[in-house]
Amino acid sequence: MEQTFIYQSAPVRVRFGAGSQRHVADEIAAIGGTRALILSTPFQKDDADRLAARLGPMAAGVFAEARMHTPVDVTARALTAYDQSGADCIVSLGGGSTIGLGKAIAWRNDAAHLVVATTYAGSEVTDILGETEGGVKSTRRDPRIRPEAVIYDPELTLGLPVAMSVASGLNAMAHAAEGLYAADANPVTSLIAVEGIAALQRALPAIYRDPADLAARGDALYGSWLCGTVLGAVAMALHHKLCHTLGGALDLPHAETHAILLPHTMAFNAAAAHSALRPAAALFGGDLGGGLYDLALSLGAPTALKDLGVSQSDLARLADLAVKNPYANPRDVTRDGVLALLQAAWAGTRPASPGPERTRL
Ligand code: NAD
Repeated sequence: MEQTFIYQSAPVRVRFGAGSQRHVADEIAAIGGTRALILSTPFQKDDADRLAARLGPMAAGVFAEARMHTPVDVTARALTAYDQSGADCIVSLGGGSTIGLGKAIAWRNDAAHLVVATTYAGSEVTDILGETEGGVKSTRRDPRIRPEAVIYDPELTLGLPVAMSVASGLNAMAHAAEGLYAADANPVTSLIAVEGIAALQRALPAIYRDPADLAARGDALYGSWLCGTVLGAVAMALHHKLCHTLGGALDLPHAETHAILLPHTMAFNAAAAHSALRPAAALFGGDLGGGLYDLALSLGAPTALKDLGVSQSDLARLADLAVKNPYANPRDVTRDGVLALLQAAWAGTRPASPGPERTRL
């Protein structure tokens, strides 16, 4: 072992498995709570109401206004609801948008936070909170943001539509793939990353064939937990930076933007991060960018930014924005390099395979 590193584990309690949704009351007690405000999006309000009914007196109320990108005005209303309900903890039932609201509340009032995760975005195990105010999204990291406990019940993901499952799963893979070459990566996060990518690589085609495949749904949640753990442990680079820039500038759908850009960012960094990416590339026959592209295509995921409504004339401005503030990345991030990457992602072309010296495994 020649690597030098710092490894810091995070205290998250995880209850995993089909049927574990029936233990929400136990998990509220485990985080020291007695009455929970339940959060959801408007779309999942019925699920949140059913959970509240099951919890009886342990439910202080339901706040079902969570929205993408955690707008601070919604958080302000949720804080008022929390105070008025007499809650002493939060249960977020949903994906990254609902979890973002739970984190925004907990970061402000230190409430204990249990997540019942229903997508593969991975936010439930990270210390990262992105919030929007006046159209500007800002992101912060703080250990207090990380939820205390998570329930992963594959039964709750059976209704996640295939297209969302695929995009969300590719979003999770992006955390792990980029975590492999993070400036602060370590052998433990790299092990977790490769296992997470492998779990999603086998789960997503199975879900595509049969969305009711409970074992595959379990694999996907397992993979998303692992990939989220990597996101919560190390610093991200070009891929996440680009998704953040495009998402913020053009209000693009989060998971789909990750899904489209991932093959291209991996191809961009393939040579510079050859050793770090090798175990993930091995899962895709030695070509991570091309392999991820083929996977996305075979699962019907979007592969071109133009299909999300991005105009080719936007690309130069986006490249300017993406190189404005420097950040760590294995390969130098130049305006021309980013523009070429964005052109390929816009058109949806398959990224070029790495040369022979790069495919040696
Ligand atoms: P989401 O939470 O926005 O959910 C999308 C829609 O799907 C919502 O209407 C939701 O109610 C619905 N849905 C969720 N689970 C469902 C299920 N099982 N069945 C049917 N419908 C379901 O989507 P997401 O991709 O999980 O989250 C995206 C957001 O999360 C973005 O704002 C992104 O920035 C954030 N995020 C944050 C982190 C972090 O660490 N801070 C990590 C990943 C994503």
